[in-house]
Amino acid sequence: SGKPYDFEARIRRFDGVYRWLQVRGLPLRDSTGQIVRWYVLLADVDDRKRAEDAMRASERNLALTINTIPVLAWSAAADGRADFFNNHYLDYLGFSAEEARGWGWTSAIHRDDLAALDATWQNILASGASGEAEARMRRHDGAYRWFLFRASPLHDENGRVIRWYGVNIDIEDRKRAEDALRRSESFLLEIQRISHTGGWRYDVAAGIVESSPEIQRAYKPLPTEDITKPPFWFDRIHAEDRPRVEAEFERCLVERSEYQAGYRIVLPDGSIRYQYATGHPIVNDDGNLVEFIGASMDMTEHWLATSELQQASDALRELQMTMSRAVQVATVAELAASIAHEVNQPLSGIITNASTCVRMLDADTPNIDGARETARRTIRDGNRAADVIARLRALFSKRELTLEPLDLNDATREVIALYSSDLQRNSVVLESKLADDLPQINGDRIQIQQVILNLLHNAADAMAAVSDRQRELLIRTEREGDRVRLAVRDAGVGIEQEQIDKLFDPFYSTKSAGMGIGLSISRSIIESHHGRIWATPNDGPGATFAFTIPV
Ligand code: ADP
Repeated sequence: SGKPYDFEARIRRFDGVYRWLQVRGLPLRDSTGQIVRWYVLLADVDDRKRAEDAMRASERNLALTINTIPVLAWSAAADGRADFFNNHYLDYLGFSAEEARGWGWTSAIHRDDLAALDATWQNILASGASGEAEARMRRHDGAYRWFLFRASPLHDENGRVIRWYGVNIDIEDRKRAEDALRRSESFLLEIQRISHTGGWRYDVAAGIVESSPEIQRAYKPLPTEDITKPPFWFDRIHAEDRPRVEAEFERCLVERSEYQAGYRIVLPDGSIRYQYATGHPIVNDDGNLVEFIGASMDMTEHWLATSELQQASDALRELQMTMSRAVQVATVAELAASIAHEVNQPLSGIITNASTCVRMLDADTPNIDGARETARRTIRDGNRAADVIARLRALFSKRELTLEPLDLNDATREVIALYSSDLQRNSVVLESKLADDLPQINGDRIQIQQVILNLLHNAADAMAAVSDRQRELLIRTEREGDRVRLAVRDAGVGIEQEQIDKLFDPFYSTKSAGMGIGLSISRSIIESHHGRIWATPNDGPGATFAFTIPV
C-alpha cells in the first residue's frame, strides 16, 4: 500500500534471547510519487512491554482485590463526586453503579446524619487531607447500620488532589458496645453518687491506687496531694482509727482475705466523715495477689441519723421512765415530807405539854389548873395530828378523777409500748392476750395506766432474781359479766399466803429500795373506780395480780 507502518515483534538477539522491538517503516518517494526507498527504525521496547504486562496484571489483581475485600470501597473525583463503588458497596446498598455515582449514594444515608456527614466531607475536600466521619447507612433490606467513612486523597506531582479513595467500615457492633459501656458506666457512676459509694483498686505490685470520682468527692483531695499512692488514703483516716485500719489492711494483704473496715476520715477543712470500706483480693493463675478492688461508702448521714434516733429514743425512754417513777416517788416523797412536817409539830407539842403537865402534877403543891391547861393543849395537838393524818388519807383515797370513756385494751397497749423495751432489757418475755369484745369503762386513763404500769414493774421486779426459767409475763384482759378484768401473771418469786393481806397496805415492802406504796395507791385508784384489786399465788411459780372495774 505504500503507507508507513508500525508494529511490535519479538526478535532473536545474537545470544538467542528474544526481545520486543518496535518496527517502524517510512517510505521515501521521488517527485512522481514513486517509492524509492524504505527507512526502517527498530527500537528495543522490551522493558516497556514487560512493565505494561505487569501493570495490566496488577490492575486485574487490584480490581479483583477491591471487589473481594470485605469492605465498602469507593473513589471520587477531586471535586468529591463519587465515580467508583466496589461490588460489596453496591450489593450492600442494593444500588446499581449508575444509581450510586455522583451524589446518588447519599440517598442511603440516614436523614439525621446527612447534614453532619456532608459538612465533614466538605471540610475534608477543602483541606485536601485525610479524614473520617460516622453516619448510619441503609442496607438493601432497609436496616440502618453505623459506618465509619474514611477518605484519603491522591496527589499529583504538584501536590494537587487528583482523586479521593475511601472505605466505609461497619461499626454498628462497636457503636452498640460503646453505647452499652457508656450506659453501664454512667449507670455505675450514678449508683455510686446516689449511694455515696466510691470504688477503688489497689495494684499491689505497683503500689498504685485507682479511685472513682465518688470516692474522690468523699476524700476531697487537694491539688498537691497524690491520690495514686496509699499514704494519701491512710493519712485521711482519723488518728484514733488509723492504726487499727492499717493493721487490718496489712493483714488482708498478707492473708489475701476480704477486707472490711469502718472508720472516720478527717477532711482538709477539719470535718469528720464516716466511711465503711470493703475490699476483695484478686489472685492470678499462679496464686499471687494482684490487686484489691473495693468500695467505700460514706456513712456519715446514716450514722448521724441512727445515732440521733438512738439518742432520741434513749432520751425518750429515760424521760418516760423518770416520769412514771417520778409520779410515784413524788407522791411518796411529798407524802412523807408532809406527814413528817405536819405530824412533827403537834407531836413535839404533845411531848412538851405532856412533860409540863407531869411536872405540874408532881410538884409539892400540884398546879392543877396549869396541868389541866397543858393537858388541854396536849389534846389540841393530838387532834391536830389526827387532822393531819385524816387530811393525808383524804388526799390519798379521794384524788380527783378525770372520768372518760376508756378502752382498757388501748390503755394497756400504750403502757406496754412504753415499757416493753425495759422488759426486753431485763429479758422478760411479754405476752398479751387482749379480749376482742371488751366493753368500754368510765375511767381516769392516767390513773388506770399508773396501776397497770405498777403491776408490770412489780412483776418484772419479782422475776429479776429468776434465772433458771423463762421470765414470762402474761397480761390479759377479759370481760367478766358486767365488769372488765385485767390480770398480770408473772413467773417470779411468788407470794406467801400470809403476805396476801398485807401487800396492799401502805408502806409494806419486801424490797430493799421499796417504798411499799405502789399497790396501796393502785388499790385506792381501783376502788375509786368502784373496782377491786387482788393478788393470788400461781399454781406454778409466780403470782397473778388482777383488778376488775364495772362497765
Ligand atoms: P414496792 O414495789 O415498792 O415494794 P408495792 O406496794 O408495789 O411496793 O409492792 C409491795 C410488795 O408486794 C412488794 O415489796 C412485794 O413484796 C410484793 N409484791 C408486789 N408484786 C409482787 C409480785 N408480782 N410478786 C411477788 N411479790 C409482789
